[in-house]
Amino acid sequence: MANGTLIFKSKTIIAGLNAKTIKGDKREEYATAIMYLAPAKMAGGANLCAMAREAGCDPTHNNGGCLVNSGQAQVFSSINRARIAKTQRYLANRAEFMAELVRDIERFVKWCAKHGVKPAVRLNGTSDIQWEVAHPCERVAATDAEFGDWVGQYASIFEAFPEVQFYDYTKVYKRAYRQLPANYALTLSYSGANERYAEAVTKAAHETGANMAVVYRTKALRDYFVDKVAQYGETCRDVIDGDQTDLRFLDPQRVIVGLYAKGQSAKRDTSGFVVG
Ligand code: SF4
Repeated sequence: MANGTLIFKSKTIIAGLNAKTIKGDKREEYATAIMYLAPAKMAGGANLCAMAREAGCDPTHNNGGCLVNSGQAQVFSSINRARIAKTQRYLANRAEFMAELVRDIERFVKWCAKHGVKPAVRLNGTSDIQWEVAHPCERVAATDAEFGDWVGQYASIFEAFPEVQFYDYTKVYKRAYRQLPANYALTLSYSGANERYAEAVTKAAHETGANMAVVYRTKALRDYFVDKVAQYGETCRDVIDGDQTDLRFLDPQRVIVGLYAKGQSAKRDTSGFVVG
């Protein structure tokens, strides 16, 4: 334990839990494990962020607002090297990678139970993979007295772990039109870098009711918008303070999630991802 924080570490996901949890505060009932991969085409091969170029955040193309360029990852390239190696495992053998992820989530679920919190998982910490499509997995589902362990086959990781709350941000706005599992909350991510993208993402939020995150240049600017109605393209909604917690699945529905830019590269962003 360091600085009152308990750490869960595995090959695919990592979580921190503040030991001084505030009882009765809904936000403190969860621990979130996040997976950090190498975004877009940073690991070579397939593109993990289908809309990054259009939304102006592709770190291999320009220095857009991608989180991969923020904080420690920017300073320590060894962090990015580890993410690239992990992503190459995902790209080389998806079935094997999903088996590894299942094992790690199972361990995380037990870790959460031991510490008396609920498990939440964000698979796209620094990627934008459509996990609901073409990502089947297996899990030892139960033990039968006669036949022993049997393996459950699931269409997605969300179905394999109904006890886990998954959530992500996404720039792939077409995902908002899909029938997503009840334990997966997706928040659209606005960017004004490109008029066509801005129009499409605000239309998707308007038509599907999905929440949409907007990153403001400063905390003061975000504070100005919080509790007011703001309009971006077709989306006209109340703005909430999205920095109080990252647990997006607890947000009210049909809102704009107001965030402010953190880290020097985000504050200096000129791509249009950061507003103001
Ligand atoms: S979609 Fe997200 S993870 Fe991918 S490059 Fe853009 S900001 Fe980074």
